[in-house]
Amino acid sequence: MSKRILVTGGAGFIGSHLCDRLLALGHEVLCVDNYFTGRRANIAPHLADPAFEVLRRDVCDPLHVEVDEIYNLACPASPVHYQVDPVQTTRTSVLGALNVLELADRLKVRVLQASTSEVYGDPAEHPQPENYAGNVNVTGPRACYDEGKRCAETLFYDYRRQHGLSIRVARIFNTYGPRMLADDGRVVSNFIVQALGGRPITIYGDGTQTRSFCYVDDLVSGLIALMECSDDAIGPVNLGNPNETDIATLARTIVEMTESRSDIENAALPEDDPVRRCPDITLAIQRLGWRPGIDLRTGLGKAIEAFRTAK
Ligand code: NAD
Ligand code: UDP
Repeated sequence: MSKRILVTGGAGFIGSHLCDRLLALGHEVLCVDNYFTGRRANIAPHLADPAFEVLRRDVCDPLHVEVDEIYNLACPASPVHYQVDPVQTTRTSVLGALNVLELADRLKVRVLQASTSEVYGDPAEHPQPENYAGNVNVTGPRACYDEGKRCAETLFYDYRRQHGLSIRVARIFNTYGPRMLADDGRVVSNFIVQALGGRPITIYGDGTQTRSFCYVDDLVSGLIALMECSDDAIGPVNLGNPNETDIATLARTIVEMTESRSDIENAALPEDDPVRRCPDITLAIQRLGWRPGIDLRTGLGKAIEAFRTAK
């Protein structure tokens, strides 16, 4: 059945891919974005589509719209961008969550929060299952994002307990793909842009830190599966690719795949940079029947091609 679906942050990297998929599934989409890190170009192909609408709004302001379902993605995700104005990052996470929850409660509709693996901080447990409570430095430079997202999760579960709201919380692990900004600052886009431009590849620290990279199409399938799952008692669900890679190997792979002559350069490791990160996705496999299907080389190939041809 066709629904009217609100996607906050819909002009961003993941949000725009989610809008694409929801429209392709026959839904109407209302995209709300303040273009802090989003781009009109990401949603431009849909502007003439009567099933698509866009509102330039800040999620810190209350939203008065009529929809059947809400995905709350509005929030900068790159450490470079979320640390530019950390107070605004916390505000976006917390007030944005409150505003979508109030809207969902008034409309009695389901709402999904894009949470993050950052709620686990620099994890002491590996891989990270959903019941791991995390290890976040409350006062560090990443805290605006980590604690903002943790508080948003709290608000989601309190709205469920207090108001009986139907909520879903996705803990998204590092996701990459076409439409990441060239100056996004995250590792996959940085390395591809540097490699294609023949500039040095900047490895922060010694490159032994790990991440687990999920291609955006897989992630979008996971978000929709979680939204559609009938289990209202389901807790937060990890969504990510459990294939763990160290950053030095990622750099070498991208240099090789782009046939780049870039050198590799080591720079200082940012404060509180997590040492290891890998999702335990047992819950998503068992309860959503979801698992990522696109391996790193295939996904990197698509991302490299997109950056090569980007205007
Ligand atoms: P992104 O920066 O590309 O997209 C975020 C979007 O939100 C942008 O379009 C931006 O303009 C918009 N936005 C920011 N603040 C806003 C505000 N106050 N009001 C309205 N719009 C606002 O990032 P992304 O990678 O697409 O991430 C989307 C969501 O997924 C975020 O909530 C992020 O925390 C979460 N997430 C992403 C990853 C990842 O690896 N990409 C990992 C974990 C969690
Ligand atoms: N990183 C790097 N070079 C870059 C950008 C990032 O070595 O040009 C490292 C960063 O220090 C971290 C990892 O890559 O260890 C992932 O960083 P990203 O900002 O993509 O995501 P997050 O740290 O939020 O997982």
